[in-house]
Amino acid sequence: MESETAPGGEKLSKFVSRAETWLEASVPKAWRENRGALSNEESDAIRREWDRQLWAGGFAGIRFPSEYGGQGLGLAEDVIFHVLAAKAQAPDGFSRIGKTLVAPMLVRSGTAEQKARYLQPLLSGEEVWCQGFSEPGAGSDLAGVTTRARRVDGGYRITGRKTWTTFAQHADHIFVLAVTDPDAPRYKNLSMFLVDMSTEGVVVEDIRQISGAVHFAETQFDDVFVADADRVGEEGEGWRIAMALLSDERGGSETAARYVDIRADVDLLLESLADREDLARDLQALDVRTEVLRWQLAKVVDLEAEENERFWRAASMLKVQWSDLWQDVTRFGVEHGAAEDREHWRYHYFEAKAVSIYSGTNEIQRNIISERVLGLPR
Ligand SMILES: Cc1cc2nc3c(=O)[nH]c(=O)nc-3n(C[C@H](O)[C@H](O)[C@H](O)COP(=O)(O)OP(=O)(O)OC[C@H]3O[C@@H](n4cnc5c(N)ncnc54)[C@H](O)[C@@H]3O)c2cc1C
Repeated sequence: MESETAPGGEKLSKFVSRAETWLEASVPKAWRENRGALSNEESDAIRREWDRQLWAGGFAGIRFPSEYGGQGLGLAEDVIFHVLAAKAQAPDGFSRIGKTLVAPMLVRSGTAEQKARYLQPLLSGEEVWCQGFSEPGAGSDLAGVTTRARRVDGGYRITGRKTWTTFAQHADHIFVLAVTDPDAPRYKNLSMFLVDMSTEGVVVEDIRQISGAVHFAETQFDDVFVADADRVGEEGEGWRIAMALLSDERGGSETAARYVDIRADVDLLLESLADREDLARDLQALDVRTEVLRWQLAKVVDLEAEENERFWRAASMLKVQWSDLWQDVTRFGVEHGAAEDREHWRYHYFEAKAVSIYSGTNEIQRNIISERVLGLPR
């Protein structure tokens, strides 16, 4: 990999040293050294500023086409940057949903006006996005959403309730999957909208997670106006657009950052439980699974340039692989970890509960792997 040249003409080894130098100089000291002591406001301010720093430093939208303001590089650079950033203990900004979901969706299906209006502020961290798919009665069965977009002069009026909306408290915009034609057959009745969160009728209520953190919220829409210009694709095309977007959500870069966290957790266990011979076999098994995850990630990166189908198959395993592993590692930490690490394991154990649920649950993802990758009968 070291000798390869990136699409932008820069050698990977040069990209690595450029990224390392930039991260070393840019990760805020208060975050790196004292994150636990920061107030919510301080932490939010650092995370928002981090998105702007990434843009100014030339590391926003690494894989995103340069004609739309991205860096135009490949998955290798993106994965490497995620690994280096996690090792440098960089903050997680608020722009993740905008960059990984909204930007590819607009490039694929947006109008020229939507691209011009939304892409650059999204990459530069000026505008934060959140995702309005799940509802109290529709999660895995996404096609069962009931939020209604009623046709009115010049646009639509949206009414309904979305839930588990990550970043809703910080977001400037939300993309919403809503029913435009209640009489149309399932999958043909939905459309996708871009909604300004400050529009009258949008109400956000925090949801506190089991770990104590507040990462998401419930978002209500009470007769919220959205103009025709902010519908993505044609009316009735919402399902097709949502499906393309979900395959972006299950891609590889998140795995890179998670690998670093899991590796650090396993190393902590190996070190603190080095004299527990009774646990040695179980610890080795976690260690081996962590390295298998790294290999699988490397395989996905290598396959990216070669073959679409094999790449997609390899990538579809990643989320199930790392989320199962992280839950097993944190459970092991809670059961056997050293007394001085108790708070660390408690927090990570609860945080890890969510990872097999978001972006589609592991059961749903296993259904996809068994049917579409392994070709098993339904
Ligand atoms: C931390 C976090 C952040 C999230 N962020 C967002 C967000 O920003 N925007 C958003 O729209 N949503 C978000 N979600 C919601 C997430 O997408 C849903 O929770 C998820 O799709 C599951 O839906 P559900 O909670 O309604 O569970 P259900 O769909 O009710 O599932 C309940 C259980 O039944 C199983 N199940 C359901 N159907 C099947 C089936 N066909 N085969 C086998 N098993 C099945 C599921 O696997 C699960 O174990 C987030 C969730 C979490 C935990």
